[in-house]
Amino acid sequence: MFHVSTAMTNVSAVVPDYMEAYARISDLNLHLNIFEKAWAAWYEYMQNDVLATGIMSFVMHEMVYFGRSLPWIIIDTIPYFRKWKIQNTKIPTAAEQWRCTYLVLLSHFTVELPQIWLFHPMCKYFGMSTDVPFPAWTTIAYQVAIFFVLEDAWHYWFHRLFHWGPFYKYIHKIHHTYSAPFGLAAEYASPIEVMMLGFGTVGIPIVWCAMTGNLHVLTMYIWIVLRLFQAIDAHSGYEFPWSLHHFLPFWAGAEHHDVHHEKFVGNFASSFRWWDYMLDTEATPESMKRRREKKLATAAKKAQ
Ligand SMILES: [Zn+2]
Ligand SMILES: [Zn+2]
Repeated sequence: MFHVSTAMTNVSAVVPDYMEAYARISDLNLHLNIFEKAWAAWYEYMQNDVLATGIMSFVMHEMVYFGRSLPWIIIDTIPYFRKWKIQNTKIPTAAEQWRCTYLVLLSHFTVELPQIWLFHPMCKYFGMSTDVPFPAWTTIAYQVAIFFVLEDAWHYWFHRLFHWGPFYKYIHKIHHTYSAPFGLAAEYASPIEVMMLGFGTVGIPIVWCAMTGNLHVLTMYIWIVLRLFQAIDAHSGYEFPWSLHHFLPFWAGAEHHDVHHEKFVGNFASSFRWWDYMLDTEATPESMKRRREKKLATAAKKAQ
């Protein structure tokens, strides 16, 4: 009896209960808010920072990716929403959605999971904080805004490059399997593409951190969650009267990216419309008409 209770005490000292860890952190750190306490208790409970950050990152990605795709899967089954579907004759079948889920999951477990264990050591190497308290919301907001702008530029140029001959044929073609995209297809791509375009999402904040020494992993998570929402919604295939680009005209959204999948040209950027607008790679009926007229005008001038 005595032996059993000692053994149990020892085990609980090595692997503390999460709620116990939370209570201890709470007692010692009255100034922390509930989220900061929960965060610190997680690290205390895990007793292994690499695993704590790794598991949290992977679980967060899976939950957000599939959690955000789910409403779009449901919407696809409801005929009422058909009036807002951009390519409304092409509704993804259940078999297509399953196959896509399977391939995306396969890539998450084989390509992403092994890399995610490097995430914590990399954060530490570049001075990214995983501690509490969290940064001020204003710091989070301006950094996330900067990442949106920089990632969009990165995405524009590399995506445009991926549409060039051999790169398209051997790498990017996989992502273009679905000419009428749906939410789940956002990350359906070659591992090489995931790494190259993923650098814009993960690498840019790391470079930012290396340069400024000012980044918290929570800011990184908030940025990644918003970026996932952006990517999944851009692939949703639905354009609503309340879609964000009606209020923020420079926001790209599904209307912008759906045409890219349908026509295979133009609209290379991810979040914003300015790169495609400035470099005349937009794929709207107006821009195509404008380009056609320009071509005719040049030809007419030459003929004179
Ligand atoms: Zn493309
Ligand atoms: Zn796409």
